[in-house]
Amino acid sequence: MARNFVNLNVNPCKMCMPMGAAIAFKGIEKAILMMHGSQGCSTYMRRHMATHYNEPVDIASSSLTERGTVYGGEDNLKKGLKNTIELYNPKVIGVVTTCLAETIGEDIERLVNEFVEQEEVGEISFVPVATPGYGGTEFEGYYLSLRKMVERFATEGSNDKLNIIAGNLTPGDIRRIKDILESFSVDYNLLPDISETLDGGYSDDYHKLPEGGTTIEEIRSMGGAKATIELGVLAGENISPGKFLEDQFGVPVYRVPLPIGLANVDKFINLLVEITGRKTNAKLTKDRGRMLDAMVDSHKYNAQGRAAIFGQPELVYTIATLCLENGIFPALLATGVETSRLSELLKKDFELAAEDILIIDDTDFQTIRDYVNKLGVNILIGHSDGKFITEKDGIPLVRVGFPIHDRMGAQRKVNVAYDGSVSLLDQITNTLLESKYSSYREDMYDEYFTG
Ligand code: SF4
Repeated sequence: MARNFVNLNVNPCKMCMPMGAAIAFKGIEKAILMMHGSQGCSTYMRRHMATHYNEPVDIASSSLTERGTVYGGEDNLKKGLKNTIELYNPKVIGVVTTCLAETIGEDIERLVNEFVEQEEVGEISFVPVATPGYGGTEFEGYYLSLRKMVERFATEGSNDKLNIIAGNLTPGDIRRIKDILESFSVDYNLLPDISETLDGGYSDDYHKLPEGGTTIEEIRSMGGAKATIELGVLAGENISPGKFLEDQFGVPVYRVPLPIGLANVDKFINLLVEITGRKTNAKLTKDRGRMLDAMVDSHKYNAQGRAAIFGQPELVYTIATLCLENGIFPALLATGVETSRLSELLKKDFELAAEDILIIDDTDFQTIRDYVNKLGVNILIGHSDGKFITEKDGIPLVRVGFPIHDRMGAQRKVNVAYDGSVSLLDQITNTLLESKYSSYREDMYDEYFTG
């Protein structure tokens, strides 16, 4: 079922580690990211984020030149940090590395500690994270950055709050999760909170660092919370923020899939019921009923679907479960991350035989395209980078995940909860219907008259 391909990646199905760090730090109040490395890295991240979220995204760079690369980038980094403080007056600076800084052996923790000792930094907090571009993907960069934040700020204590570690979702998703938490009247710490910082409203005043985000005080209080729900089940325990809180402060962690698809939303809601001791509310019950109704309505169309799902593994896993719940066969699952857990979980959840679904990890779009054609896939589900398969082979793409550059509204899209899952399911079903009705006369003619 799981296949490893050790080969050259052409157009890889992933982004690099600092990209995940950039998204994670955008969810912290008045935080800015400093990328230690070449300037092009921060431009690449800003370009991806600005077109996906349709928001201005500032990322500082130490802009290493040939000199810094040969003799060490310390001076550039320190000068860059001083400028960043002067220009942005942030509360938090995440300092991450890139390929170049790691290749020349920069010790980011030491450099940041030295800077704090040498300069007047006032109340500003620094979170150094080593994120070599080649050391993992945006998936690992995201969770590792969150882990470093709780390692840096969380303190011992006791409070009645619930920690939620949000997966790499849309700002719209995060708002929906907050609605659900509020419907349970539970006091919570949500890390990270990109609901406003990456999808703010229009205002006459321009803030260099947008309003919103998780506060340092909230992260501090995570060490004394009564439990942590971590949305995501595939990240290793060594980069899990919830696991750190459990090991260090005894805060029990419950790791559940992203709440997309009936079974996965149920898991999240049931956990909230169990932890808070409160009943689920009428709106959620109605939404669940509507989802069941929608599943019954659309199953007759979905049975024709043979999907290829690609992107970051948590999303691939949960969309695969949504497809399997609804009669769409996920013929191919592909991710740029190395993970064997994906096939284990799907086998367990759906009692699949080893040969049922092809799962390829650490892969690229050239390989995905080859298998899409070999396996008779008729719908693609993933981010914009898969669009060239549509262009070349005419297979339609339902855009979900990060990045989405060629459509509007990625930041507002809600895929989580019962209503969000129905909306995603409708999109998939309607895409199948559109394909069917655009060619069914020719298909019938071919079938009956040309044989
Ligand atoms: S892969 Fe390396 S060089 Fe490329 S953008 Fe990422 S950190 Fe920079």
